[in-house]
Amino acid sequence: MHYISTRGGAPDLGFADVLLAGLARDGGLYVPSEWAPLPPRGSSYAEDAAAIMRPYVAGDIDDETLRSVCVDAYETFRHPDVTPIVEIGDGLWVQELFHGPTLAFKDLALQVVGRLFDVVLSQRNERVTIVGATSGDTGSAAIDGVRNCDNVDIIILYPAGRTSEVQRRQMTTIDSPNVHTIAVNGTFDDCQDLVKAMFADESLRDDCNLSAVNSINWARVMAQIVYYAVGTQHLGGKVDFSVPTGNFGNVLAGWIARHTGAPIERLIIASNENDILSRFVNDHDMSTASVVPTLSPSMDIQVSSNFERLLFEMNARDGGVTAQQLNRFRSSGKLIIEDDVFEQWISPTFAASRVSDDDTLREIGQVYRDTGMLVDPHTATGIAAARRCRAEVPVITLATAHPAKFPDAVAKATGVRPELPAQLADLMERTERIHDLPADLAAVSSFVRSVSRAAG
Ligand SMILES: *Cc1c(COP(=O)(O)O)cnc(C)c1O
Repeated sequence: MHYISTRGGAPDLGFADVLLAGLARDGGLYVPSEWAPLPPRGSSYAEDAAAIMRPYVAGDIDDETLRSVCVDAYETFRHPDVTPIVEIGDGLWVQELFHGPTLAFKDLALQVVGRLFDVVLSQRNERVTIVGATSGDTGSAAIDGVRNCDNVDIIILYPAGRTSEVQRRQMTTIDSPNVHTIAVNGTFDDCQDLVKAMFADESLRDDCNLSAVNSINWARVMAQIVYYAVGTQHLGGKVDFSVPTGNFGNVLAGWIARHTGAPIERLIIASNENDILSRFVNDHDMSTASVVPTLSPSMDIQVSSNFERLLFEMNARDGGVTAQQLNRFRSSGKLIIEDDVFEQWISPTFAASRVSDDDTLREIGQVYRDTGMLVDPHTATGIAAARRCRAEVPVITLATAHPAKFPDAVAKATGVRPELPAQLADLMERTERIHDLPADLAAVSSFVRSVSRAAG
């Protein structure tokens, strides 16, 4: 299997290079040269994961290694089914993706991706330094994914005082010598600017072999195809999925599952008040607006970077056309898609709904009254969208975070404060390891050099 860039101007690469590179050199995203049909169902989640990913890593990761990576990765989950599915009535189901170590669905991909990094780096006898900025969930999931990787150092920047205490402690209490957290005296945007500036510094980038595991990394999308296949097989016939959406990574994995044979009728996109994608699906209007903070912060995004991979398909895999379209989008703030292309690719496959904070709280309350279940605000946007868009077939809503990650909203809606699972019950007593630094490039770069073992 080889990979091509969505903008047509970067060299084709194999899986291992795509894994380490993240973004393509022309600014595009890598996609597989062909889509692999979904294999028949295996005997466990880890078996299914290995079978689904096998064709995409072929040539770089052998079958036995892939199997053991998947077994190890999903053994870290607290539920034997990994992503259990529960019924909540009215033809609605919830697939729980929050049983991993950091209580958010990002664990399903990052537990695999961290281990794949280690496999590839030890084959090559190389080390990397992962740097990233986080406002919450991504940082802890990335840290947990690589905490035992000998060939990876990870440094995560977060805005001091601006994450929840649970989110911060999930990052700062990991006691591994290769994990470093920096509390930046600034905002999330300051953190992101510092990370961008470090990647732009060629000597730092090369000396420390800087790398990233952000949501545009193909390996993350690939690992997410699995739970769609598992979910459809659980219910038997055709289903719709409702997906709480930010960067479009999760929905894209659903589209790939559907495209490669899973009996998925429609993908319902749930947005919060940052509704660029639901405006696109419902009004054929993709124009950027400014980001507003909501109760579902992991969906507070206005540019859904993974949409580029679908756009490339809509353009019959023409990278030149895709690059031009995105350049115009960047300068005008509006993405132009012809009516016939929209009717072919979007209308039959996607539905969408925008869910306000008030409706999110109402939905958390309703699910609790109907079933006794507590759901987090991201999941609640998905269930609300599922109720509004439901047609003939059952709808599975992806539950993307554990309610205890967002206890304030859940308590406000239900009067009940969700508790952390047993493994994390002592989180508030664990020792934190934090480096406080100003939002200053020289200070942060010199810290990165000092801890990076790739820098020797
Ligand atoms: C990251 C995240 C999302 C959004 O996922 P995308 O792949 O960016 O669409 C939704 N819910 C939670 C809890 C998340 O952490």
